[in-house]
Amino acid sequence: MRKLEEVLQDWEAVIGLEVHAELTTLETKMFCGCKLEFGAAPNTHTCPVCLGLPGALPVPNKAAIESIVLAGLATNCDIEKHSMFYRKNYMYPDMSKNFQTTQGPVAFCMRGHLDLDVDGPAAKERITAAGLAEGDRDGNATRTADGYTAHVGITRIHMEEDAGKMVHVGGSEGRIAGATHSLVDYNRCGTPLIELVTEPDLRTPEEARLFMQKLRQIYLAIGISDCSMEEGSLRCDGNVSLRRRGDSKLGVKTELKNMNSFKNLHDGLAYEICRQAEVLEEGGQIYQETRHWDPTSKRTIVMRVKETADDYRLFPEPDLAPYDLTDEWIDQVRAKLPELPDQQAARFARDFGLSAYDARHLVESRTTARFFEACMELAGEDAGALAKPVANLVINDVTAYLNAHEGVKLDATPLTPERAVALVRLVAEDAISSKQGKEVFAAVLEEGKDPADVVKERGMEQVSDAGAIEAVVDAVLAANPDKVAQYRGGKTGLIGFFVGQCMKETRGQGNPKVINELLAKKLG
Ligand code: ADP
Ligand code: ZN
Ligand code: MG
Repeated sequence: MRKLEEVLQDWEAVIGLEVHAELTTLETKMFCGCKLEFGAAPNTHTCPVCLGLPGALPVPNKAAIESIVLAGLATNCDIEKHSMFYRKNYMYPDMSKNFQTTQGPVAFCMRGHLDLDVDGPAAKERITAAGLAEGDRDGNATRTADGYTAHVGITRIHMEEDAGKMVHVGGSEGRIAGATHSLVDYNRCGTPLIELVTEPDLRTPEEARLFMQKLRQIYLAIGISDCSMEEGSLRCDGNVSLRRRGDSKLGVKTELKNMNSFKNLHDGLAYEICRQAEVLEEGGQIYQETRHWDPTSKRTIVMRVKETADDYRLFPEPDLAPYDLTDEWIDQVRAKLPELPDQQAARFARDFGLSAYDARHLVESRTTARFFEACMELAGEDAGALAKPVANLVINDVTAYLNAHEGVKLDATPLTPERAVALVRLVAEDAISSKQGKEVFAAVLEEGKDPADVVKERGMEQVSDAGAIEAVVDAVLAANPDKVAQYRGGKTGLIGFFVGQCMKETRGQGNPKVINELLAKKLG
């Protein structure tokens, strides 16, 4: 198979996502009073309604409707005042009602969008963006100073309920194939779930990953879900098709199910794009099917050919009245919207004079955004001056550290905002060099000490005292009269030699800025 970047030269990938989020922050299920609790003993949170026993009547969870409206408002959707629930009929043991209660053609939230800022190496996957000038457009993307912004349409966000959980016993890896029997836990049954469907507006696996990351940050900010991809409270299906560059007709798509990490989403889509290209280039045909990404063997496997919507026989739910939301109620929900990541980034840029790039990357995770903000508070009057170095520390060093130490939470490391500000101050005030700053950063994290103590213990303090340095500069110049004469005769490149000698005399602790200034004065 060819590499993604080669395939994308000839083919345009078209990607649409379907994202399910469980509303884990709610107390109770969607249509009954059963408690929502992850990891409880099997079948301890069930009742006649969520088991679908005869005669049981559903009552919608108002807090869940509020959550989905918040999600819609936070993703620029129109809130539909009139909508209703439907029954999606299917028979499978994970749903004992034999139908899922979901929404029909009109969902609570319709026609939204998110703008994705793509920069750095991530921007390279959209190869057509590279040749554009700032402000130029390529389909739904606009070139920016450091990449591009892609406008991604959101078709809808609808309300539905989760099914129970099947556990297959006796087979390998919990798969149904080879299992001797299966168990079912109905605790998850009836968990409020919102499904967001995007337009087929994404063009690269990176854009798909960024969309998911951004959506996750928004859902976390509005507090509707814990959004754990590992535990399955945030799940994503990726739909992807190819078309020849320049074509406008959509190709046949395949659907990758349940991508449970950002990396799997990216890698699964990248593989599928390359696989489809190979099939099409060999004159083959893509079938509309559901496939499973196996990260271990690094390939996708057919799960089933696509059922059509007709198979589900969607019909209006007779036990639930249609919804009529009022403008007043929607406004009350709108008033509860907290600051969203984009707004936070704009504020960071405005208040602290940061670039759009820095501000955007600071809010990529709530942890780093909070950390940065705590540092700025501690910096007080110096916030403006320290914002850029603190941002650099957070975006580069802290992020690299966290990436290298999977599962480690920033709050649980010895790097407190106090220590981060102290470290940045030491460098800003020339007490240590920026290279020494990296060493201190590592030492703070490894040894759990304050930056000032690390500097003292390791004898790193730069000598910035002009008097002490002047003596060294004078001694160096006196010891090298011939070089001084050459310098004055025009060989100004010798400045490096003098600086080097002074650094040697101060055992690397002389402040290079002070040394340079004194040399310039004395030699000039
Ligand atoms: P289905 O009926 O198969 O569920 P939908 O029309 O509901 O398909 O779309 C599901 C998702 O697939 C949406 O995110 C949509 O944007 C995306 N999608 C639809 N058609 C294509 C296509 N040809 N290529 C890629 N993605 C597509
Ligand atoms: Zn129940
Ligand atoms: Mg669909």
